[in-house]
Amino acid sequence: MKRRAFLKKAAAGFAAGAGAAPAIALAQSQPAIKWRMASSFPKSLDTLFGSAEQIAARVSKMTEGKFEIRVFAAGEIVPGLQVLDAVQNGTVECGQSASYYYVGKNPALAFDTAIPFGMNARQQNAWMYYGGGIELMRELFKQYNIVQFPAGNTGTQMAGWYRKEIKTVADLKGLKMRIAGMAGQVLAKLGVVPQQIAGGEIYQALERGTIDAAEWVGPYDDEKLGFHRVAKFYYYPGWWEGSAQLSIYVNFKQWEALPKAYQEALEAACAEANVHMLAKYDAKNTEALRRLVAAGTQLRPFSRPVMDACLKAANELYGELAAKSPDFKKIYEPWKKFRDDQWLWFRVAENTYDNFVYSAGHAAAPAKGAPAKK
Ligand code: CA
Repeated sequence: MKRRAFLKKAAAGFAAGAGAAPAIALAQSQPAIKWRMASSFPKSLDTLFGSAEQIAARVSKMTEGKFEIRVFAAGEIVPGLQVLDAVQNGTVECGQSASYYYVGKNPALAFDTAIPFGMNARQQNAWMYYGGGIELMRELFKQYNIVQFPAGNTGTQMAGWYRKEIKTVADLKGLKMRIAGMAGQVLAKLGVVPQQIAGGEIYQALERGTIDAAEWVGPYDDEKLGFHRVAKFYYYPGWWEGSAQLSIYVNFKQWEALPKAYQEALEAACAEANVHMLAKYDAKNTEALRRLVAAGTQLRPFSRPVMDACLKAANELYGELAAKSPDFKKIYEPWKKFRDDQWLWFRVAENTYDNFVYSAGHAAAPAKGAPAKK
């Protein structure tokens, strides 16, 4: 068939709506949709806020510009810690947040991000995608008119910035600390006065002395937020965030009204962001840690007695929460079984491999505040 004749025939086919429509006809039939996404994070963080922008850009490309999502930083539409509310009540169609910011509404929301002594990023993904996690969390989020998607992970976090050393459990007493999620309730049992403060407002609180300590994520983000300029001791590990998952929230009605192809595009973009955010943190944390140590930051591991006391307090808290929150109990029990099984498996190959290579002289990570190798 001659090209011109083919085009004519194809055009006639479109007009009559005959047969299977080629992709281009499908794209033309899709509506133009514009959404607003409220993020819990400041623009300065290219990891977290940047990930929301990547999702929006990807969705736009996959729908040939028909489905546009504009991302707003914390405070532009709603404050950083009110993103869930804004999606729930339809102020915005979608949001990017960390669900453990909302443990005051429901402690079970924390499983969508992290609970202390929880899973690492690999294990969290295993639970979410293949361990029933997404299903359990979706059931919970229905109470808030939201469909949620895993859309990023920080990996294991640092334990944050302290003006004074924490040598013993007693040193935690009276410490005013910015700490997110359920960890604050654990540390409160050991005398800490926890505060939830959105990322963009932590530096000022630490600088002014409103708080004595603050945790955020890890070297790359923490350096950007400048905490090393106002607190010297940088502790690890962030036992409350063996990993921390970020999520995209979509208002349930908006999700239902979205064309199927756009739903698929958004879901795929979120899954992609889940891979990329972790990769970005892993790739960028080493150099940031070197720079922080070179600038005078003192690295400190929490002592075993401090870690043990925190673990004991966390397990106490989980018992209390399971007794008073049916939602928490319903997720905690299968979650704990899955976590314990993951730990069993990871101890065999993963942990043995990691322990060998990290101790065999191949690693060059700075330790105990020593200046890093150039
Ligand atoms: Ca954190």
